[in-house]
Order: sequence, then structure tokens, then C-alpha cells
Amino acid sequence: MPVLTVVGAQWGDEGKGKIVDLLAEQAQYVVRYQGGANAGHEVVVGGENYVLHLVPSGILHAGTLNIVGNGVVLDPDSFLGEIAGLNKRGIKTKGRLFISPRAHLTLPLHKALDAAREGADGQTKIGSTKRGISPTYMDKAGRVGLRLADLKDPRYCMEQLKTSLQEKNVLFRHLYKSKPLTAGVLWKAISADAKALLPYMADTEGMLNAAYKAGKRVLMEGAQGTLLDIDFGTYPYVTASNSTAGGSATGTGLGPTRIGYVLGVCKAYTTRVGEGPFPSELDPKRDKVLRELGGEYGRTTGRARRTGWLDLVALRYAAQVNGLDGLAITKLDILDTFKELEVVVAYKIGSKVVTGFPATTAELAKAKPVTVKLKGWNAPTTGAKTFAQLPKVARAYLNYIEKFTDVKVALVSVGAERNKTIVVDSKLKSWKF
Ligand code: GDP
Repeated sequence: MPVLTVVGAQWGDEGKGKIVDLLAEQAQYVVRYQGGANAGHEVVVGGENYVLHLVPSGILHAGTLNIVGNGVVLDPDSFLGEIAGLNKRGIKTKGRLFISPRAHLTLPLHKALDAAREGADGQTKIGSTKRGISPTYMDKAGRVGLRLADLKDPRYCMEQLKTSLQEKNVLFRHLYKSKPLTAGVLWKAISADAKALLPYMADTEGMLNAAYKAGKRVLMEGAQGTLLDIDFGTYPYVTASNSTAGGSATGTGLGPTRIGYVLGVCKAYTTRVGEGPFPSELDPKRDKVLRELGGEYGRTTGRARRTGWLDLVALRYAAQVNGLDGLAITKLDILDTFKELEVVVAYKIGSKVVTGFPATTAELAKAKPVTVKLKGWNAPTTGAKTFAQLPKVARAYLNYIEKFTDVKVALVSVGAERNKTIVVDSKLKSWKF
């Protein structure tokens, strides 16, 4: 069953971009299954830098077909802009990129709502990227959204828009004190994009099932990370979709029994962007050191990421809720100069020691990390081509992670470049899952 799902096992920014790009090279299909233009991968191919938000990274590999699944919310402006950028650089998208007719559309009204909600007084800021993702998913669940296939039926679109705006305009007018929107103006903008978008629509669910049957290699790429998942993340500081492995079934139309391998990408330490509890966070002095070593700044925002020791309680939880078959440990090299490391093995909440990941943010905020000190290898790892070539102490660190999470280390990344990768699990080379 050569279907591989790659998920972030932490709070996002795990280095998924590099891992997905590496594996996409061997894949025949690369599929996005959730999220929207809030995701961002920077991939370097042949010395060229590409930033992809909605288009799967397989687009950079000739011969790979790319699918935007039904679970994704598609922002037409962002998508068409990305395509134009790729085409300008000689990368073909026609006949190589397909969108599910069931994918919901992020409309200007969703972006307006997002901006108004985050800016409104008294609203809890959850660190939204203001790209309209959450309002799009709200409309999907509220049954007033528009899907790609709907663009073929203007009358239906107008009806849906009118229904949707009935409620939203009350909010715009009275709560957010902003201008109401009209269905006609919205439709005009959307219908202008429809002509460019509809040629990319295809029966992607059918395509993927046929690909599965024919034994093709399918890579499903998750955006964000497990702890940002709408169900399993640190609610409410989460994204609006299921970034965990289950989303790769519901967000593509390829049933869960078809997934052969779930790979969780995880840094050798932990980072978190923005608000929310973070039990393994380092003190300010050491936080600064690790941030500088790891270059932990947001790709598009430049926002400094908070850093911490590897949280094994959170990672074991991620292993469980994703059913991980293997771990891809990235940025091991960033820890090369440490003489001593710590890992979090439990939390102390009040007088209790807990080993499970708390369900509420309030509990997590009270959690004091219980750590175990491990020896640092204090030697370069970047030159290692095999697991055996890694310093013995670094191998011990990886073995500790394996033992604690009960998931094997399938891949180790020791540098940003593609060749700085050690594929430990041979299944990831042969795609025989
Ligand atoms: P993503 O969105 O999950 O891909 O994560 P980021 O946007 O934070 O990207 C991770 C950054 O770290 C990128 O600049 C990568 O090139 C870089 N990177 C990935 N793996 C490694 C690694 O093993 N070592 C080092 N030094 N850098 C890495």
C-alpha cells in the first residue's frame, strides 16, 4: 500500500517542507488534505527558492501529479497567484494539478470576517493568520459555504451567498462596526476567478482511488502540526482543521485502510509560535541561544519562535493520535554544541505527576515539566551519512526518543540540505508499506 501520510508531530514548523520535498521526489502523487493558504513551505530545488502555500510541493518535480483534496479550503486569489508565479518560472501546472470539486472556497467575506474578529475588542486572540481559514471552515460546518463545483451554478451561489450574508452582515454592522457586503459584488469577484479555477477541477477522489489500485506512490502532506489540530491540539490555540493523520482520509476520499505508513516529523527540540502554554519552554537566556542556533524565526512573519526541550509527553501523545509508524527527527545538528540536554518525561500539575497530555489549556498552563538530563554529544552530526556514523551519544538520544514514544526513528535530518538526511527505515526508500 504505497500511500504515505506525513504529519507534523509538534506545533508546526518541524521542518516538514524539507522532508516532504525529499519524499515527493519518489512520489507519483502529492496531495494536500487540510488547511489553506495559511500553510507555507519553502523548498529549495536546484538553488531556486519556492514558497508554496496551497499548491502541493510535488509540483516542483516533473512527472508528479498534484492534488488539492476536498479537506483543503481554497483561496482563489492566493491559488491563482501561486500558479501564475510557478508558470512564470517555467513550471507547468495544467494537467499536473487537480482540485477536488468538494473543496470549499475562501471568499473575501471570510477574510473580512477574520480581520474583524481578530481586531474586535474583547475577542480572545488565538493568533489567526487572518487569511479567512477559520471562517471558511465555519461556513463549511454551517452549510452556507461555496465549493469549487458550485461555481458552475451561479444561481445556487447567489442563494448561498445571500443566506450566508444575512447573518454576517448583522455582525459586520453591529458588532464589528464595518461595512456590510452584498452577494452581487461578491459574486462578481468570484465569477471572475471561476474561469481560471474550473479547469483545475477533477474527480480527485476517483483519481486517488484509481492510483491506489494501480499501486502508485501517493504522498499526503499535512500542514501545521498535531498540537494545532482542531480536535487534538491545544484548543483554542489551534487551526480550524484536522492536521492529524485521520485528516488525510477525510480530506482526500482515500479511505483510512488505504494509508500504508504515517510519518511524524519532529524537531530534536520543541518550538512554538505565538500564544498558548508551552511546558518545556526554556528560560529567556537559554531560549535565546537555541532560537539563534536553530534560526527559529517565522518564514513569512519574521516572528521569533519560543523554544524548549523536546517534550516527550507531547510527542508520545502525537504518536498515539496519529498512529505514527515512524518519526523523522529534524534539526539534530542544532543541538551539536550542547554538553547536556533535557527531555520532558512527565508534567507536574499541582501535586500530581501526569504522563498523559492534558485536554485543557488551563491544565497545560499549570504543568511544570519533569525532565530527565541526558548527555549532549557536543560533536558535529552534519557529516553523518548513516545512523552508525552519528556520534554514539546522539544515537543514544534518538534511542531514548524511540523507547519513550514506542515509535522508531525512521529518518534523521542533520542539515537544511537534501543530502543531509539519513533514511533509517528502508520502507521509506522502497515505499513497500
Ligand atoms: P516547516 O514549515 O515544517 O517546513 O518548517 P520551517 O518553516 O520552520 O522550516 C524549517 C527550516 O529549517 C527551513 O529553513 C529548513 O531548510 C531548515 N531545516 C530543515 N531541516 C533541518 C535540519 O535538519 N537542520 C538544519 N540546520 N536546518 C533544517
